[in-house]
Amino acid sequence: MSEHWEIYADWNPWHGCTKISPGCKYCYVYRQDEMYGSPIASSECRKTANFNLPVKRKRDKSWKIESGKIVFTCFTSDFLLRDADPWRPDCWQMMRQRSDLWFYFFTKRIDRFMECVPDDWGDGYDNVIVGCTVENQEIADYRLPIFRSLPIKHKSIIASPLISAIDLFPYLDGTIEEVSAGGESGVEARPCNYDWVLALRQQCVAKDVPFRFHQTGAHFIKDGKMYRMKRCHQLSQAHKAKIDYKIGKYLVPEKVKFEWKESDYH
Ligand code: SF4
Repeated sequence: MSEHWEIYADWNPWHGCTKISPGCKYCYVYRQDEMYGSPIASSECRKTANFNLPVKRKRDKSWKIESGKIVFTCFTSDFLLRDADPWRPDCWQMMRQRSDLWFYFFTKRIDRFMECVPDDWGDGYDNVIVGCTVENQEIADYRLPIFRSLPIKHKSIIASPLISAIDLFPYLDGTIEEVSAGGESGVEARPCNYDWVLALRQQCVAKDVPFRFHQTGAHFIKDGKMYRMKRCHQLSQAHKAKIDYKIGKYLVPEKVKFEWKESDYH
C-alpha cells in the first residue's frame, strides 16, 4: 500500500452509472448517493463541474493537476458507459494533451472498448492504464478473452468485488501487468473468502504476474470464520497480510514508469 497519497489525483468527468453485472449489486456510487441524499438517480449519468479538470490551470497558470500524477479516472461511473459516448472524445483529447500524467480507469464494459477509442489510438496511448474488472468466473470467462485481444499499452485485471473463487490462470500472460484482488465494502457486502484471494495469488506467482491484495471487504472469511471489517481497516488489513507479489509502492502496475523525483515524496 502506498503512503504517497500526494502523487494521486481523482478525475470524475461524469457521475452516475447503470448496473451491468453481479459486481454492481451494491455499487458504491449508489451507496454514496443515497448516503448524501442525492436528488438525482444514480443511474442518471451527468457531466460534472470537473469535466475539464486535467486542462484546468491555477491563477499562476500552472496546471491544477501537477505533472507526473496518477489520475484515477471516472471512479463514480464507468469510463466506457454508453450514455457518456458524446463526451468521451474530449476526455481522450485531454489525455493526449496531458501526456505528463498517468490516467487509470477501471471498466466493466471492456466489450465496448473498440467502439470508444479515438481514431489515433493505434496500439494505445502510453499514459493510459486500463483495469478490466471481474468478480466471478462467468464474467472473467466473458471479459478477459476480449481484454486480451485489445490494443492497450498497460493492462491490469481487477478481481473485485471478489464474490467467488476465480481461475485466472488461462488469462495471465505477459501483457497483464498486475492483478489486484479485493472484497466488497458496504453493510450488505457479500463475503470474500481469503482462500479465493490466496488461490489468485498462487496463479499469479505461477505465471510471474504481479499480484496485489488491496482490500479485505466488509465481510471477510478466514479459516472458516467470518470477520466484520470496519471500512477504515479494510485496506490496512489486506496490506498486513503481506501477500503482495512483485508490487511496487504505488497503486499502479510496477511496469509503469514514473519520472518524478523520489525524494519529493518522502
Ligand atoms: S459499472 Fe461500476 S460504477 Fe457502474 S454500476 Fe457497476 S459498479 Fe457501479
